[in-house]
Parts: sequence; structure tokens; C-alpha cells
Amino acid sequence: MPGLIDADCYQVKYRAYAKINLTLNVTGRRPDGYHELESVMQAVSLCDDVTVRLTPKQKHMKLQRDGIHVAVTARDTYIKQQCVPVDGRNSAYKAAEIFFAKQAPPVTYDADIRIHKRIPAAAGLAGGSSDAAAVLRALNDIASLRQTGGAPHLRRLPEDELLECALGVGADVPFCLLCATSREGAAPPPSGAALATGIGEVLRPLPGFKPGYAVALANPRVEVSTARVFKEFKLQGAASAMSAMSAIKCTEYARALTNPCGEPLCGGENLRGREIVHYFNVLEDTVIGFCPQIKGLKARMEESGALCALMSGSGPTVFGLFDKTVAASRAVAKIRSGGDWAALCKFI
Ligand code: ATP
Repeated sequence: MPGLIDADCYQVKYRAYAKINLTLNVTGRRPDGYHELESVMQAVSLCDDVTVRLTPKQKHMKLQRDGIHVAVTARDTYIKQQCVPVDGRNSAYKAAEIFFAKQAPPVTYDADIRIHKRIPAAAGLAGGSSDAAAVLRALNDIASLRQTGGAPHLRRLPEDELLECALGVGADVPFCLLCATSREGAAPPPSGAALATGIGEVLRPLPGFKPGYAVALANPRVEVSTARVFKEFKLQGAASAMSAMSAIKCTEYARALTNPCGEPLCGGENLRGREIVHYFNVLEDTVIGFCPQIKGLKARMEESGALCALMSGSGPTVFGLFDKTVAASRAVAKIRSGGDWAALCKFI
């Protein structure tokens, strides 16, 4: 349970995990401009630490107008120089704002949000989305103290309302809420993987999917705007013949994973390696078009023995899946020695 650290002062710390897209297919475009996707998303152990502290409102403190204050730190030099915003543009800030807007009477607490970042921003790893999901979970944990007395007058939101808040921040936030957040010291989420459809909000968790690869992540130290990727993807007329083929396989694979009788694609450990041929990202060629370094990173992963090397989400981060941690670790060292950002992690 969240900590009461002083009279009327509550603090909770969450891990906000990164995600990778094992499959990513674009299935359509809605009239409001959002793209419809079909994607098997998988949380990995690389995480940001998100600490949320609620204190009674104090007028003299230099907090933002609505009592939300965000601070971002990082040790990694690339992430440090990315200068993630700390104002209303920060996803964690937006999450708190939306959560508070659901409360009546108005909240009488200031929220102090501290994010220690290890996930690069604008990288296709949903770092910002995961921070937002962690804030929603942390605030809801604190609200649950109300039942035990002496807690702030926050209403604990039921899961469907919390998911609504998540979608209000961004399309990847519902996945992060379900599969990519855990309170410090608590068990990881029951499923780290889900099939996402719609704009990402229709989620089917895949608790039986546990192939458990070692993962190497690599980023050319370039920020990629998701909006730009979708704009260029559309201009290219969606896909080449080759990627259309793979997109079909991708869809079949995603369906098989969710079918309880879908032999041999579901069933955990023993599918290891067999399902990997179906992994695909329909956006990859588009992003390689303006960020050719992705090709080099994929090649280095493959030279290091990756079973599969693919761009995650809207890029430019490349993930390599390995049978053995030692091989993934060697790939990370090799990529770092070439000057790129890299990290070792695993499926959660
Ligand atoms: P997604 O897959 O959700 O689009 P991403 O990894 O591509 O995620 P984010 O890390 O969410 O991208 O960052 C996208 C933009 O959002 C960046 O340009 C960054 O400045 C901004 N941003 C806002 N809040 C955050 C945050 N808490 N962490 C990282 N970036 C943030």
C-alpha cells in the first residue's frame, strides 16, 4: 500500500516499463485522423522510476497553477540532453490533470511528480505513455487509502474509468496501464503482453505468451516524431507488395496468439523461436527512408546472433531478440562502441 510519509502527505513509487511491438500492422484510418493498428505489444524490463507525492495545497510553493509539478532526471547522457518538457506538455502532467478533473469536489492536494528516465524519448518505446500510466496507478493507489481512513479526499476510479483517463493522454497509455506498470516492490503485471487493436485501446492481454527472450535495444540517438511517420506512411500509399504480404502474416499470427486452441503459436515457453518469423513492423521501411541508421543497427544485431531484429513502434529504436543473455549483452557492448545508445533488458 502507498506510504503515508507525514501528516496528510502520501508518496508512491512506480516502475514504468518500456514496450516493444513484436508485430505492428496499420489496418485503417479513422475520420478523426487516428490510425487503426493491430499490434502484439510486449513490455520489457527497461523502466523509468515515477514517484508521486501528494501534499496539502500550499499557496506559497512555486507549483504550477493547478498544483501539479513535474521534475525529470536522467543519468544517461543521451536522455539528459533530450530535455523532456516538465510543463503541461509532459504526459505525466497530463495524466494527473485528467485524473484530478474526474474528482469532485476539487482536489485540495498538490502533486509532485518525479520521473527518473532510463527510456529514451520519441523512440518508439512508449516511455512517455508509461510514465503517464504510472501516475494514474499511483494516484489511484493513494485514493484507495480513503477507505482505510485519514487519506486525501480522492475518489478511487474503477478500472474502466482509469482506462478512459489513460486513453485521454494517448493511444499507448491503456496498454501501459494494464501491462507495463508495477508498484515498487510489488509483482510485475500478470501479463506483460497484449494484442492491441483499434487505435491501441482495445486490448487483449496474452498471459500465456512467455517466450522470454533476452532483448538488446539500440537507438541511433535520433528522435522520431510519430506524427511524421504516419504522414509519410500515408504518402507512400501504405505499403510495398513485400510489406503487404508480411502484414497478412502479422495479422494471422496475432489472431493465433489469442486463440486458445491456436496451436502451435500459444502455449508459452515451447513456442520459443517458432513464432519469431511472424514478427513484422509495417512502418519500418517508411522510417528507414529518413533514418537509414536503423538498417545498420539491425545488421549489427543480426551479426551478433539475434534471432530477430526489428524496429519498435514508430521507431527509431531497434530491438534484437536473443536466445542467451550473454549474446544480447555482447550486442549491446558492440553497438555502444559504435557510438549509439543501447540497453540490455528482458520480457516482463
Ligand atoms: P509512443 O510509442 O507512446 O509514441 P515514444 O517512445 O515514441 O512513445 P515518447 O517517449 O512518449 O515517445 O515521447 C514523445 C514526445 O513526448 C517527446 O518528444 C517528448 O518530448 C514528449 N514527452 C512528454 N512527456 C514525456 C515523458 N514523460 N517522457 C518522455 N517524453 C515525453
